[in-house]
Amino acid sequence: MSQYILEMENINKSFNEIQVLHNINLKIKKGEVHALIGGNGAGKSTMMKILTGVYTSDSGTVKVNGETIKISSTKDASENGIRMIFQEMSLIPTLTVAENIFLNQKVKEKGLQIINKKEMERKAAELLATFEIDVDPSAVVNTLGVGYCQLIEIAKALSREAKILVMDEPTASLTEAETQILFGIVEKLKKKGVTIIYISHRMHEIFQITDSITVMRDGRHVLTTETKNLNMESIIEHLLGSTSAEKAFKRIKREKKVTGSNILEVKNLTINDKIKNINFHLKKGEIIGFAGLMGSGRTEIGEAIFGLNPAKAGEIILDNQKVKIKSVKDGINAGVALIPEDRRRQGLVLMHTVKDNMVLPVINKFRKGLAIDKKNVEKTVNSYIEELSIKTDSMNKTISLLSGGNQQKVVIAKWLETNPKVLIMDEPTAGVDIGAKGEIVNVIRNLANQGLGVILISSELAELMAICDRIIVLKDGRITGELDGDLIESEAELEHAIQQ
Ligand code: ADP
Ligand code: MG
Repeated sequence: MSQYILEMENINKSFNEIQVLHNINLKIKKGEVHALIGGNGAGKSTMMKILTGVYTSDSGTVKVNGETIKISSTKDASENGIRMIFQEMSLIPTLTVAENIFLNQKVKEKGLQIINKKEMERKAAELLATFEIDVDPSAVVNTLGVGYCQLIEIAKALSREAKILVMDEPTASLTEAETQILFGIVEKLKKKGVTIIYISHRMHEIFQITDSITVMRDGRHVLTTETKNLNMESIIEHLLGSTSAEKAFKRIKREKKVTGSNILEVKNLTINDKIKNINFHLKKGEIIGFAGLMGSGRTEIGEAIFGLNPAKAGEIILDNQKVKIKSVKDGINAGVALIPEDRRRQGLVLMHTVKDNMVLPVINKFRKGLAIDKKNVEKTVNSYIEELSIKTDSMNKTISLLSGGNQQKVVIAKWLETNPKVLIMDEPTAGVDIGAKGEIVNVIRNLANQGLGVILISSELAELMAICDRIIVLKDGRITGELDGDLIESEAELEHAIQQ
């Protein structure tokens, strides 16, 4: 018998005469967690849609346990035990959790017969409990957060036996707590012998949970090897090709040390019972990082300074003035901007254009009498497109058509238009490919060079190390350490500081 549970061989695929997959080979051993990585547009999702019967390949073969199978529909894939959790969610918002999980199955098994609701909810509860997903099976899906929807999507995929499970960027919209639940599920599935193909842009996840890796670039296979044979740098090199790799996460020493006055001082900030007595400062033009595990309080501190989740006690001093920040409006007026982690939910209106996303929140600035000064709007938008090198054919393009990295730059532009003194960014490069990450890192550096104070919250230690002048380490709502960015020797050292 073949040592591989799955062999996809010489897969070719074109859309509208443009070839997007060139002779791809993907071989995966039974019971492993296999990372499939590559920049946006590399062809990962298309490969997986071919495997799951959403698309058919133009040529190539698929073998499961050494035997060639024909996948011409999702049903064929499903009957071979191949399941996929899609990047775009497939739940029906107006149905309950239980109904969503069992929808297709029940319809098939029982025809039009009325489904016993109680029985279905009991089964759903059982299934959710095995994966420790704490959600009420009778809750209607549109009342739940994005993260829970993703976990339910997973439960749904696993409601029937899976041999091969494909997860396409499953953590892109999960909080850290939900990500940990997901990793627990991955562990359990692995113990049960399920093989997992895991697509993610997050390097630390890849090192944490995968056994082997396939890298794709521009529709071609680059390499397949065990995860332990690679490190961050070598992966980036394979992802980008050696010439552009250098640019991505290069640590650039600041030409001169930041010595200006404090733009922000935080004294004895208390947010809740757990997060209290927080003290730190940020200088003009300085980039500080918040490092810590989930629940360490990083996001909450950012939100308190911005006014989204105001502090109960303590002082915030901005540009030498004590300010009271009780609401987001106070925060914005005081000169604070926060770019939240989940830009899809909080930062952008995906159906709107690049231009509208940038200027609508501050449209009053462009009023001239009763009318809007369109020329000025366009000038401003164009200058951001240029300054942040946003890749879009036009300012009138719908933002959902831009890549994740370019969407993120539009969010940054939108907040720069409020003239902030302090910019707080929560996981700014989550869900964007490594090339775009490098560009966003550059944008952050440039902003700091112009005098903005930046607080960067990130789970990517390499990212913190690459750009922060100082890194503040948080644990369980307290500051437990501070490191000089230039003096950190390795990612392991920072990891150690966080775990302590
Ligand atoms: P990845 O998941 O690695 O980001 P995709 O598989 O989504 O990449 O895309 C690979 C290439 O195929 C891209 O250039 C994308 O624009 C193109 N593509 C994907 N799906 C379609 C489609 N349905 N129609 C036309 N082009 C597509
Ligand atoms: Mg994709």
